[in-house]
Amino acid sequence: MLIRLTRNCPWNRCTFCGMYKAEKFQLRSVAEIKQDIDAMAALRDDLIALSRPYGANGGVSQPGAIALIERCPQLNDHDGFAMFYHWLLSGGRTAFLQDANSLIMKTDQLIEVLAYLRRTFPTIVRVTTYARAKTLLQKPLDDLRAIRRAGLDRLHVGLESGDDAVLEKIGKGATAEIHVKAGRKALDAGFQLSEYWMPGLGGKAHWQAHAENTARVLSAINPHYIRSRPFRTWPGTPLAQAVAEGTFTMLTPAEQLEELRLTIRHLSVTGRVCFDHAGNYWRDRQGRLLFSHSYQGYPFPEEKQRVLDLIDEGLQASAT
Ligand code: SF4
Repeated sequence: MLIRLTRNCPWNRCTFCGMYKAEKFQLRSVAEIKQDIDAMAALRDDLIALSRPYGANGGVSQPGAIALIERCPQLNDHDGFAMFYHWLLSGGRTAFLQDANSLIMKTDQLIEVLAYLRRTFPTIVRVTTYARAKTLLQKPLDDLRAIRRAGLDRLHVGLESGDDAVLEKIGKGATAEIHVKAGRKALDAGFQLSEYWMPGLGGKAHWQAHAENTARVLSAINPHYIRSRPFRTWPGTPLAQAVAEGTFTMLTPAEQLEELRLTIRHLSVTGRVCFDHAGNYWRDRQGRLLFSHSYQGYPFPEEKQRVLDLIDEGLQASAT
């Protein structure tokens, strides 16, 4: 289930990202967010009531959803309805707070929203959100702990690179040191932590430093999850323009794998390394995807050698 706590990104300056470029950041009031939660709860209650005659016994069912659509035909054209129905059908267990940096909210307001969400949807077992490293650093540790206790379980942080020169170039607004401190602080506060990095983001000029320093920073943080999101150009962004003008040279697929090998070699962590995105497109010699796209990824250090072997396999495939 998606719940929008803020609109767009309060930073909005990363040169590779086009997600919210045309949009202005806005905080939402607690009352407005609660109204959204109430609306979803009313929809859930209607679905449960209309599913009961079909034997769903407290759950939702397809005949119940059809009965509700017959009553409110406009739901049929609402993407959010199908998503919400399927979420309920699968147990209603996880929620994601949008948009780009929910921790920017005032602590007491965020806590109020979390408590309300947990009360209204008791089936939820995990609540996740994006967080900027700098915001994590700015929030007092006690605030983070209180937010964690109120029911926010997991944070996704965009590290992108552990190399200061690359971070500067992409306008991330955070140094490697800030990322390490913020990541360690999130762990101290009790959050499950996912760090996202972008293989290829250093281009040809910085690939080595990007690989080594990213591995160094990730090892210093030692998050629960490390997620690979290989760099691709996003039309209309400054970095896409730099590629078009020839001032940034992208890596070839084989060069990306070389970089990945260097990163993984230097990585010393006890979490999971995940390639859970279509951007991890490399293939083996049989034409199959090189890495599992499982959300749980590969446990390290146990499967570090396996990942290195897979990279070698990918390199051989790209040479044939
Ligand atoms: S902080 Fe995230 S959403 Fe905001 S500009 Fe950077 S990458 Fe995009």
